[in-house]
Amino acid sequence: MSDKTIAIIGAGIGGLTAGVALRQAGFDVKIFEKAGQLREAGAGMSLWPNGTGVLRQLGLLAAVASQGQSGTHFLVRSQTGEVLMEIGTAEAEMPTICVHRAHLLRVLGDALPLECLALEHELADMQFAGGKVQLKFTNGEHLICDGVVGADGIHSRMRCRLMRPGKPMYRGYAIFRGIADVPENFSIGHNSESWGEGSRFGTLAIGDNKVCWYATVNSAIPPQHTDWPKERLEHLFSRWHNPIPELIAATAPSAIMMNIACDRQPARSWSHGPATLIGDASHALTPNLGQGACMAMEDALVLANCLRRRQSVVAGFRLYEAKRYQRVRNAIWRSRWLGQVGQWENRAVVVARNAVTRVLPGRIFECHSSFAQLMTVLAGQPASSLPQPELL
Ligand SMILES: Cc1cc2nc3c(=O)[nH]c(=O)nc-3n(C[C@H](O)[C@H](O)[C@H](O)COP(=O)(O)OP(=O)(O)OC[C@H]3O[C@@H](n4cnc5c(N)ncnc54)[C@H](O)[C@@H]3O)c2cc1C
Repeated sequence: MSDKTIAIIGAGIGGLTAGVALRQAGFDVKIFEKAGQLREAGAGMSLWPNGTGVLRQLGLLAAVASQGQSGTHFLVRSQTGEVLMEIGTAEAEMPTICVHRAHLLRVLGDALPLECLALEHELADMQFAGGKVQLKFTNGEHLICDGVVGADGIHSRMRCRLMRPGKPMYRGYAIFRGIADVPENFSIGHNSESWGEGSRFGTLAIGDNKVCWYATVNSAIPPQHTDWPKERLEHLFSRWHNPIPELIAATAPSAIMMNIACDRQPARSWSHGPATLIGDASHALTPNLGQGACMAMEDALVLANCLRRRQSVVAGFRLYEAKRYQRVRNAIWRSRWLGQVGQWENRAVVVARNAVTRVLPGRIFECHSSFAQLMTVLAGQPASSLPQPELL
């Protein structure tokens, strides 16, 4: 199949990872990105072992690790700082790495030859003809290719062409993020999320003496960023444990970003002929598990492996979809559920939640695929007994 040209729409984490994986599988790849450069803005993110496992398979783990910070623990705390759950990440076969999004994009971009990437190319439309796809861009350019992969994010235009239209669903809270210098007495490697009543606050050390923090706040309707000036956040978290107030205070107001928590109902199918979707375009999930980018990277590798194993692009895309459906569906549900529990605001319910969290094993967060996995963890089986994601 190496004579096939595959176009990828979108040079985010999913699109670039797919570009690297497909090239390594022998395909001719062209990535089209509407922006004039790879995204420089953004905050830190966590790459859990399933995401770093993909990077290792692509030969990029060392480069990403050198730009970020590996974590040894993830702590769930109360808002007073009491540790409710400790998730050990050091013993896993693959590391957990926190890294600035721009650094990850740069490593992925550097792994591709310049001619693979066409910036300032916004997909306008596509048409199927004779087993091929014709892409049209807003700048007037056209391309005919053997297959196209939509990696154009949560508001994907490709998705609108392939599936029934529908907006992402707002899940009732907003997420603020900022980056500050590592404060004194901060335990690097111990990433954490603290749970209060209707709010959470998380910290991730991302290397370069920086900490990325995030804060969630409930809001019945999606808020505007201007509804939440820095002072309001400072006030909300002023009585939380150290270094939370300090981290917010140390971040310039203009450097605080806001997103609203959204996801989509998992779809059974997201391909049509020689066109498919990966990442947020196919299965946007709320950020609670830190899995959106990890799932996009898994998609990319599975897609390349499926195309390598099938004679036709259409058959490869079908196989990819079948391999991914169950896993991404579970990630969407688990992430949504975790967000709901984390955002509970009734005091009595929160006390009960924290009490239950104290007695649950941290490894409960390792089960990404099935109820059977959950039972395995609750029964205290060793990590090696957990099935790994099927990357083919
Ligand atoms: C607050 C927050 C925290 C998060 N934290 C984590 C985390 O810790 N770990 C984790 O794994 N995930 C995390 N995620 C999720 C993660 O950011 C996303 O799942 C991931 O970025 C999805 O990648 P993608 O490539 O599918 O889409 P995107 O990153 O959205 O990339 C889409 C690309 O397509 C381009 N594009 C769009 N339309 C067109 C068009 N018509 N033509 C050409 N190009 C186009 C865009 O410009 C963009 O570059 C977080 C998300 C949020 C909101």
